[in-house]
Amino acid sequence: MASPELIVVGSVALDTVTSPAGSVTEALGGSATYFSAAAAILARVGMVAVVGEDFPAEHLTTLSERGVALDGLETAPGRTFRWKGAYEEDLNLAITYDTQLNVFETFEPKLPALWSDTPFVFLANIDPRLQLQVLDMVPGTAFVGADTMNFWIEGKREELSRVIARVDCLTMNDAEIRQFSGEENLLAAIDATAGLGPEYIIVKRGEYGAMLWHAGDLFLLPAWPLGRVTDPTGAGDTFAGGFFGYLASQGEVSPTTVRHGLVLGTVLASFTVEGFSLTGLLAVTPAALARRVTEFGAMTAVTGTGPVLPAP
Ligand code: AMP
Repeated sequence: MASPELIVVGSVALDTVTSPAGSVTEALGGSATYFSAAAAILARVGMVAVVGEDFPAEHLTTLSERGVALDGLETAPGRTFRWKGAYEEDLNLAITYDTQLNVFETFEPKLPALWSDTPFVFLANIDPRLQLQVLDMVPGTAFVGADTMNFWIEGKREELSRVIARVDCLTMNDAEIRQFSGEENLLAAIDATAGLGPEYIIVKRGEYGAMLWHAGDLFLLPAWPLGRVTDPTGAGDTFAGGFFGYLASQGEVSPTTVRHGLVLGTVLASFTVEGFSLTGLLAVTPAALARRVTEFGAMTAVTGTGPVLPAP
């Protein structure tokens, strides 16, 4: 494969998840996994991560068949990262029962030589120490995004703040940006976080959609309405993969590519939550994606000049 247009560093995991729809044990998961499986639909994506010697070879096949470049995925002695979580009535809220970093504890990311001038970089949810190491390896001209979660906000706030100060685009869910900023009101939370430096902030709001802040302006999208959610795990990473995958495929960050990228992120995330692990996302066909994107456009369009208002 030609060198990637987009690289992601993040977790590759074996997830044990329970939701009202059922459960899976040690299924393929991880922030970099969902991100790259979504982004690969749109752009050439390479992954920087580590797995243990116990990682099933079939998962590597799944990712490379998807088109994800795995030159930056190391296999280290020890066990693969494991996450155990559950969702109860509130499907927007993941309850973590267990996080085992395993091989990520001693991981030192390395960038394959040909990847060093990749124009788009995403620091998916992982130890901010690793996010900082990757930031040091990529050129200052790259468009860089980052994501995180409560685990790191609680455990590595100082390093995380340094990551946020150095990226162009931050994605967080609503609970996380409230927790990080200490502000209950979302606009106040965005304002406080923007003060650290990111030019773009995307707040993911689960079934309520997403909010983009850029230079004081807001852009809002609902989520794709689903009658049944099976497993919300990976929705945020898929969203970011769709968004960054689209930007990388177009090779530019403009008001139009950003909005279209948010649509792709939103629609792809809807496929992820329809199944456990990566089953929903891996089953997406170009035709199914195109159908949802078209319907989503129709659902959200405000046509013409807008409503007729009383004369002033
Ligand atoms: P989300 O898109 O937020 O639902 O991300 C879900 C994925 O994050 C799961 O597949 C987990 O393996 C992964 N994950 C959970 N906790 C952590 C953590 N502390 N660091 C990195 N990845 C994690």
